[in-house]
Formats: sequence, structure tokens, C-alpha cells
Amino acid sequence: MAGAKRLGRIPPYLFAEIDRKVQEKKRAGVDVISLGIGDPDLPTPGRIVSVLQETAADPSNHRYPSYFGLADLRESIARWYSDRSGVELDPSTEILPTLGSKDGISHAPLALVDPGDIVLAPDPGYTVYMTGAIMAGADPFVMPLTEANHWLPDLDAIPADVAQRARLMWLNYPNNPTAATADRQFLERAVEFCARHDIVLCHDAPYSEIAFDGYRPLTLFEIPGAKEIGLEFHSLSKTYNMTGWRIGWVCGRADLVKVIGQLKTNIDSGIFQAVQWAAIEALNGGEEETRAANAVYLRRHRLVADTLNKIGWNVKPPRATFYVWAPVPEGYDSIRFAGHVLDEVGVNITPGVGFGPHGEGYFRLSVTAPDARLQEAMTRMGTLKL
Ligand SMILES: *Cc1c(COP(=O)(O)O)cnc(C)c1O
Repeated sequence: MAGAKRLGRIPPYLFAEIDRKVQEKKRAGVDVISLGIGDPDLPTPGRIVSVLQETAADPSNHRYPSYFGLADLRESIARWYSDRSGVELDPSTEILPTLGSKDGISHAPLALVDPGDIVLAPDPGYTVYMTGAIMAGADPFVMPLTEANHWLPDLDAIPADVAQRARLMWLNYPNNPTAATADRQFLERAVEFCARHDIVLCHDAPYSEIAFDGYRPLTLFEIPGAKEIGLEFHSLSKTYNMTGWRIGWVCGRADLVKVIGQLKTNIDSGIFQAVQWAAIEALNGGEEETRAANAVYLRRHRLVADTLNKIGWNVKPPRATFYVWAPVPEGYDSIRFAGHVLDEVGVNITPGVGFGPHGEGYFRLSVTAPDARLQEAMTRMGTLKL
């Protein structure tokens, strides 16, 4: 059984090959340190776990939840967004809780675009933008992110006929994998471009709260006009160390939120209510834990930058995200370099090409390993022969 043709259009999953190599090393007794995955090592704050424990024991939470999330959750999200960004969202029409933001991101094209429509997606980028478009029968069109453009797509380089056929554009700032941030001017231009070409602007913002040194990333709806054309995808995964819990939301223009909701009623049956109560607790509990986690990430970022700079790089800690994005040394492509680091020092990093062809020449490293492990990884990387 070969599977459906549409699956054949999805590029091979490069990380699977790396995974295989890592497993092989581990079986051979190598103590592999993984800096390959963007998954916080810090635990979910205790107050959130406690609410899950209490509400999981309550039978009223054991039945099918509402498709559209508890009203209390949508209200908490609206309050969070307003406190955070100074923008009011209508909890009944402009917010839809999702099973993690990946749920919203992967299904948005299925709800919003038709076969043959173009979906604009950044490369390098989170691979789900591409695969979601392919699953919906749309044609993905790559917007290259380059160092020269500060990892922001060059909107002027999008051909007129492509802009004409495009129905959806993905942006993601603070960015995975490049750790780049977008300024107000760029986001204003993106909103203007999408409005002019009747494109739904989809902003994926799971790192909106992972930022350092007083930097506060912009959310999409802080840009005038954005709510008339856009959606924003949020997640509790990175902000509250809740990747395993599967909860996030999509918000923005009401009719767009509505069709995603309509699609999802045919796919899933909502989010376990106890997880929703825990999310309410998370969102209402203030920023203290996120601030503390960010202090940890920044300290780790400084350690990584110091180590890499000692062995020949010239990197600065980023302003946001828990990723380090840096060029591979001369003479390597990104897969060979990741293989070399794994072979020589037993540290797993991600080759940039895994995020798309334009990621070639770079690697990504995540600072989401416990301090002692990251320290050990850096000690080992300091001995790398390049
Ligand atoms: C982690 C991540 C997500 C997915 O987060 P979930 O809410 O856990 O599904 C989405 N987009 C990007 C860019 C991410 O890095």
C-alpha cells in the first residue's frame, strides 16, 4: 500500500534520517546530547499542573467538550491578548481554541484555499506551512528568507501573477528556525501587500513571549488593518512549557475563524476540558514564570555564543526564541556538518536544509536542554575540529 498521491508530494522528512543516526549512536553507547528539538526542558509551572489535577477528577469535564472551547477560555484569551497587545478581540467570534497551534496551522489551508490556489510560505520555515498547503491541493510558493534580507521575505520579489493567484501568506516572527524578529515597518508592508492582493495573512506567533532584554515582539493585530485580512496562531506550548498538552488558539477576522471552526467540527471533537481549565489558569496567572524562563534562555544563549565565538564563529545572542541559527563552516553542507558534530562530539544539531532548500548553509541549535547538559555540549563543541 503506497498511500495517497498527495502524501507523495510532501518532501522527504530529513529529520527522520538524523533521528535514525542518533538512535544508532545511542545504541552504540554514545551519550548523545540533543539540541535538535525546540521543546522546553523546563517543566510546566506547578499552579497549571494543579488545576489539571483538580479538574481532571471532576466528572463534569469527562464528556465531549464544546467544539469551540469553553467561553471562559475564549474570554481569558481575549483578556490576555488585550493586556499583552492592547487589542480587543471578540471572544465569541474572533477566537477559536485549537489542539496546539499545529492543529490550526495544518488545517487553515484546508478551510481557506482551493486546489490550484497559491500559498506563500517562508523558506527556511516551519515545514507545516508547506505540507498543509500540499494536503489542501494548493501550490506552495517559496518566499526565501536570507541573511541579506534579515530573514524577512522580499515582498517585491513575488511575481505579479503569483500574488494574483495567492490566497494565503504565512509569516512567523519571532522566527523559527532563524530567530529573526520583524519590525513594525515590515509587518505594515506585509499587511498592505496582502490587503492589496486579497491574500489572507496568517501569522504564526508561538514565540511572541520568548524574548530578551526588554524586547517585546509585535503581535499582528497591533498593525492597523491587520484584523481585516488576517489570522494569528498562538500556542501555550512555548510560553508556558506546555508542548505535550496540545493547546493553542487561532484568532482574527471572524469569518475566517468561523470556517476553520467549521472544518474542525468535522475533524476533532474539541480539547479535553481539564486542559482548557489549565490553560485558563496559565493565561490568567501573569508573566512571572515566562520572565524567569526567558532569563534562563538568555543565560544559555550567552553561553552558546561565547563557545561558538571561541571556535571561530561570530554570533550574537538573538533577541527572541530559544534558537541559535548560524552558518556552517566552509567546506560543509548543513547535513554533513550536523553529521560531523554528531560523530565527533555526540551533540545533535539540526541542519538548516531540513527547514527548506534556502536553509542550506546553516544549522539550528535549541537551548532547551538542561543547564548542565548544555554546558557539557558546549564543552564538547569547544573541542570540535572543523
Ligand atoms: C513549536 C511551533 C509551533 C507549534 O506549536 P504547538 O502549539 O505545540 O502545535 C508552530 N509554529 C512554530 C514555528 C513552532 O516552532
